[in-house]
Amino acid sequence: MIQVHDKQFDVFIDQETLEKRIAALAGQMNQDYQGQRPLLIAVLNGSFLFVAELMKNITIDCEITFIRVSSYEGTGTTGKVKQILGLSEEIKGRDVIIIEDIVDTGHTMAELLGQITAQKPRSIEIATMLHKPEATRIPVTLKYVGFAIENKFVLGYGLDYDGLGRNLPCIYQLAEV
Ligand code: 5GP
Repeated sequence: MIQVHDKQFDVFIDQETLEKRIAALAGQMNQDYQGQRPLLIAVLNGSFLFVAELMKNITIDCEITFIRVSSYEGTGTTGKVKQILGLSEEIKGRDVIIIEDIVDTGHTMAELLGQITAQKPRSIEIATMLHKPEATRIPVTLKYVGFAIENKFVLGYGLDYDGLGRNLPCIYQLAEV
């Protein structure tokens, strides 16, 4: 059990389990994109460790770029999605994989998908480290999912709680009180 700000968290997915699964997702991408050169678009801040681990296990040619959107404060979703910042790459004709830390209500991903699709990529898929199916309000097709989890707040491995916890090497879940 650890304490971050005012809340207690328990280990939920250990580092070995997490990284084995991420390597398996990379393996799937190596097959699916053989002979292509996908562009990974990683959504900052939360996806930085996930995408780093993914990239280490991708053996085909690939490129990466980073974007930022912020829609989340504290432990509740605001439902408001802001603009995409930082996407300067040419998307037209590219095979794009959006890399997200967690899909919760689906609002962020639906918005991103709309905005990036408008730039006419050749193909577009989503990879997310975590998915909360019960929390989903806007269904989006998630081709690569690390773990489907219950609808509880998690942190670690890139995910924060009000700025803290991103450095934790595994996923923690809000403890029952
Ligand atoms: P959505 O738009 O799908 O509701 O929310 C997506 C964003 O909310 C994620 O990129 C993430 O930043 C944040 N988020 C959703 N659930 C959690 C959670 O359990 N823990 C943390 N740390 N962030 C979350």
